[in-house]
Amino acid sequence: MELFFEIKLKQYQSSGFESVEIITCGEQSCPSCQKLEGKVINITDALAIKPLPCKDCTFDLESVNEIGWCRCAYGPHIS
Ligand SMILES: [Zn+2]
Ligand SMILES: [Zn+2]
Repeated sequence: MELFFEIKLKQYQSSGFESVEIITCGEQSCPSCQKLEGKVINITDALAIKPLPCKDCTFDLESVNEIGWCRCAYGPHIS
C-alpha cells in the first residue's frame, strides 16, 4: 500500500509537479483523514513523511474491525 503511494508521487514528480494535494473522501472519511483534506505538500516531503495511508485512520469496513482503511489519495497540485 505504501509503495502504491510512493509510485504515484514519483509519477507526479516526473510529470513536472512539485507538490501534491491530499484528497479525502470528504464526509465518508474518518475524522483523522478529514483533517488532511486539501492539504498541499511538497512531493519531496511527502516521500519522506509518507502522510498516506494515514497512520491514525479509524475508518472501519463494516465487519472488518481491525485497522482503519485509509481511502485518501494524492492529486497533482497546480500552483
Ligand atoms: Zn481515515
Ligand atoms: Zn486517510
